[in-house]
Amino acid sequence: MKSKTPEELRLMREAGRIVALVHQKMAEIIQPGITTKALDDVARQIILEAGATPSFLNYQGFPASICASVNDVVIHGIPDHRVLNEGDMISIDVGACYKGYHGDSAWTYAVGKVSREVQTLMETAKQALFQGLSKARAGARLTDISHAIGTYLEENNCSTPEQYTGHGIGSHLHEKPAVFNYGLQGRGPLLKKGMTIAVEPMVIAGKRQVDTLQDGWTVVTRDHSLAAHYEHTIVITDDGYEILTQL
Ligand code: MG
Ligand code: MG
Repeated sequence: MKSKTPEELRLMREAGRIVALVHQKMAEIIQPGITTKALDDVARQIILEAGATPSFLNYQGFPASICASVNDVVIHGIPDHRVLNEGDMISIDVGACYKGYHGDSAWTYAVGKVSREVQTLMETAKQALFQGLSKARAGARLTDISHAIGTYLEENNCSTPEQYTGHGIGSHLHEKPAVFNYGLQGRGPLLKKGMTIAVEPMVIAGKRQVDTLQDGWTVVTRDHSLAAHYEHTIVITDDGYEILTQL
């Protein structure tokens, strides 16, 4: 994994800003009664108007600009005419490509008033992301991040689907290395200033086993327990990290 040049980072900051604009809008408009297709339309419009392209649209055949994953859907939910109901939770994953460079970020939103169970899972998953990020700095090893996420999830009786990971990111949406959400610390590449990665714990309230539906994309929990997903694209700095996918 090579460090990005200052010019590359400038483009990734802009891609990240556009992704963050989409999330800002999602937070505003997600409410009971809206369809996931409507969310996708709004997201695509924001990305295009900002002079970028949706990273996910047509990626390996994916048919939309966002992944919209409701309740027991972990990741890769396809937007459709499903209407969101009070009490649902929805994970929105979105990527934008600006002048050849990508930003990628996921966030889970409550739909109206949600149960204590949903609130707790969302909080745990968000904390898992920031526990992982707290280990990101020049001189650390990649799996220091993985280990921090994994131990935090264990302590909070949650699980993660082991086959899905974060990733390097840059001129490709998914670059090496994989950023696992569990495992031993002190392994993998040495982190250096200017490296860019997407850290993204997928967090399940129940068991870690998942299945892919017949559409070939939608990943659901086998035990139908709830799942949440938080992701930021970051750049490694000397004393920590900078989040690229925020305003
Ligand atoms: Mg993503
Ligand atoms: Mg990602």
